Amino acid sequence: MTLKEMDLEYVLHTYARNYVNFKNGIDATLYDEEGKDYIDFTSGIGVVSVGHGNKRLSEAICEQAKNIIHISNLYLIEPQAILAKRLVELSGYDMRLFFANSGAEANEGAIKIARKYGEVDGEIKRYKIITLKHSFHGRTITALKATGQEAMHNYFGPFPDGFVYAENIDEIEKLIDEHTVAVMIELIQGEGGVEPQDKEKVQNLAKMLKEKDVLLIVDEVQTGIYRTGELLASNLYEIEPDIITLAKGLGGGVPIGAIMTSLKDIFKPGDHGSTFGGNYLSTRAANEVIDILEEYKNSGRLDELMIYFEDKLKEIAKRYENLFEKEVGIGFMRGLRAKSADIQSKLLQKSFENRVLVLKAGRNTVRFLPPLTISKDEINEGIERFEKAIKSLEQ
Ligand SMILES: *Cc1c(COP(=O)(O)O)cnc(C)c1O
Repeated sequence: MTLKEMDLEYVLHTYARNYVNFKNGIDATLYDEEGKDYIDFTSGIGVVSVGHGNKRLSEAICEQAKNIIHISNLYLIEPQAILAKRLVELSGYDMRLFFANSGAEANEGAIKIARKYGEVDGEIKRYKIITLKHSFHGRTITALKATGQEAMHNYFGPFPDGFVYAENIDEIEKLIDEHTVAVMIELIQGEGGVEPQDKEKVQNLAKMLKEKDVLLIVDEVQTGIYRTGELLASNLYEIEPDIITLAKGLGGGVPIGAIMTSLKDIFKPGDHGSTFGGNYLSTRAANEVIDILEEYKNSGRLDELMIYFEDKLKEIAKRYENLFEKEVGIGFMRGLRAKSADIQSKLLQKSFENRVLVLKAGRNTVRFLPPLTISKDEINEGIERFEKAIKSLEQ
């Protein structure tokens, strides 16, 4: 039985997989079983923030694994407390954290916080949460219902009540009623098509919500952990959300999610929990990721390479105006908006054939989420291969 046959026979078919077998990786370069190299502009969907095969991260994980991997949240967890302190200090927000294992799970916790905030004297007073069309908040039943893409709601109902979808930020205010407790948004929609929100509109929204005592939840599962150049996109947008959720890039590949909130005393023991969440292994890994990226940011290298990458993509968008509407995104979360879904899907295929990995987003966007530590040479090589893919499409 080949590996592919084994996968098809024994694993549920939830992904349109490419049947390549990667054996090892260094930074933004992956090698398959024949030793062929691929430039990785996906970082495992925004996860491998410090690159593949990162020495510092793997050593930290090994050291921790040899000692304690897990003891449960019934006891003090040293790297968890340190990680919480660091995230609070680096973010500049007066908050506390809860650790989960994924983005969807972090969002579930955020929704629970909002629901509890809306409760008065044990009676549900406010429970509605407004999210945006084309948003993505995860795959669990509630996070899926929070996701403003009706097509994804097929088959899985009945869902929890109380989710309302706004066409865009401008429409949120008129959807608020006496039952609304929170608004949940991504500052740059990721899966929805790399769609950054307008800074001023977001700031006005935050102000309006404060006045109405409606919570602002920012889903930073994709935008967080320096993806936009700042620790959090909320820092970049200069807002103070009530709740922020994190996951993807935080553990550098070790599963971890987190909820940060200024509602520091909302949960009492027993209100929420997680067996694995915030264990020694994942929080030790996340501490190392934060150390590496903070140094990278402070050295000026992160910003320099982000600008370098942006310029490259802008050139491509300009050179192939026949294929692309425009270049979009912030920092290392970028996209090329193709003129059609057909161009998008052909480019994804051709890129793979030319050994550069890129992602789909929305209906017609090719998305780029490289490791934040990608080198200039890897950017050059990846862009060259991507351009080859474009040219093969033109013929
Ligand atoms: C990926 C993503 C999620 C879901 O994260 P999982 O770890 O897959 O559950 C939620 N929100 C946003 C914005 C994401 O990009």
